[in-house]
Amino acid sequence: MKGVIFIFAIVIVFTQSCNMTKLSNNYSQHRIAIIVHGGAGNYNSKRLSDNKQALYKKYLRQAIDSSFSILESEGSAEDAVIKAISILENAEVFNAGKGSVFNSNAKIEMDASIMRGDTKSAGAVTGLRHIKNPISLAAAVMNNSEHVLLGGEQAEEFAKLYNVEFEREGYFKTEYRYKKYLKAKKRDKVELDHDEKMGTVGAVAIDINGNIVAGTSTGGLNYKKFGRIGDSALIGCGTYADNSSCGISCTGVGEYFIRSSAAHEISSLMKYKSMTLKEAIRSVLFDQIVPMGGRGGVIGIDRNGNIACDFTTKGMFRAWKTISSEKISIFEKQ
Ligand code: ASP
Repeated sequence: MKGVIFIFAIVIVFTQSCNMTKLSNNYSQHRIAIIVHGGAGNYNSKRLSDNKQALYKKYLRQAIDSSFSILESEGSAEDAVIKAISILENAEVFNAGKGSVFNSNAKIEMDASIMRGDTKSAGAVTGLRHIKNPISLAAAVMNNSEHVLLGGEQAEEFAKLYNVEFEREGYFKTEYRYKKYLKAKKRDKVELDHDEKMGTVGAVAIDINGNIVAGTSTGGLNYKKFGRIGDSALIGCGTYADNSSCGISCTGVGEYFIRSSAAHEISSLMKYKSMTLKEAIRSVLFDQIVPMGGRGGVIGIDRNGNIACDFTTKGMFRAWKTISSEKISIFEKQ
């Protein structure tokens, strides 16, 4: 009799624990999400042909699909963000990795950053000339050094220790960007690259454990001078993540995002003013950055897996995927 009761008890415990796993999986699966951007700018549907739009959308689609399958198979938000950004860095239509803009000396200098919302650990790099995927080096800084921000040749020395892929300078250069450089040189004017039609890239993901990670990668501003560093390399400005509020990646004229500590400010408005993610993004963009004369866009995910995006420009390349919805868009507000 004792034996029967014992087996009965084991069966009950086993069934309960299966149900709990199922429940927790269902719950977590509802939270996983990825959102990516490819820059905000004042392009319009007339200046961006259908073919070009299709090309950008193809890469945005690849980025969200690959990252989402990492999240679906219970992979980490960090891996999902690195995957999405690497895909966009390798696509020469965006201003990050291959296809980055030129500085005033006709050189390419790339910035990137990444942050985890659980440990608040972060890594960032600036002034890179030979790293195929700057986001991978930012992650190596986050995971393998006691520092947050490494720059220039020394950052590339650090990369050699961690098996990060290098490329020749020629790999990053495209004819399209070189023409843009020559145009800016003639006018001697620093430009936000995607006033035309391509931009910085970024991603935010939340994984099955509720961890939020955000990352951003860019070539910066066309014809930038004097070792200029933008918000994309600065934690709290272009990139921020905090599991108690949200993960954020910004794009636009970096100086304004630095002066408003944009990404951190959004998180603070949520934490201390109880704003929703959407309200906080809107407030920073329209109440702080626009009055200063800045422009750009922001993507984010909050701790419950809600997605938000807003921009002050005519368009923003962006895409997101959750368990119940997905969207790829350029011009229309969500
Ligand atoms: N925010 C970037 C920078 O200022 C540029 C961009 O988003 O396209 O470097």
